[in-house]
Amino acid sequence: MPELFVDDVARRRTLRLMTARALVRRCPRCGARHLFRHWVVMAERCPGCGYKFEREEGFWFGAYNINLCMTLALLFFVFIWLIARQDSNAGASIVPPLLAGLFVCIPFPLIFYPVSKTLWAAIDLATTPLELREIIAALDAVEPIAPVVGWEPPTPGSPQRR
Ligand SMILES: [Zn+2]
Repeated sequence: MPELFVDDVARRRTLRLMTARALVRRCPRCGARHLFRHWVVMAERCPGCGYKFEREEGFWFGAYNINLCMTLALLFFVFIWLIARQDSNAGASIVPPLLAGLFVCIPFPLIFYPVSKTLWAAIDLATTPLELREIIAALDAVEPIAPVVGWEPPTPGSPQRR
């Protein structure tokens, strides 16, 4: 039976904890802060645990979908609220729904963008645990392995010491 490995950092987390961390723009794996250089520019790796957020090409498509779904959901509830308010008004104007749509669809995705990225990272981490090579790369990114002083790899043809 092959030896199983366990991601020590991930062992202490639950989906609820990872989601809570993601909602406040923290690393879902370790809870570290400062994942964003600017509001929308995310670091390649977590400064706390070395977890590489973009695990494969096209990874952020999930974050895009989360952001789109949240924007559409908010727009839906705002429109329902506006329709309920103006239901009895026969001369209701189209301007309030248009303004509401404008104010929901432009600022909300920009505000929610970083949270959508950390949320997607949490969902991905919960559904696809890190592989051993990813754990090693994360550890190496945080604590690079120092080379052994004085050791050189053997070259072909050199005499071997015993
Ligand atoms: Zn981390």
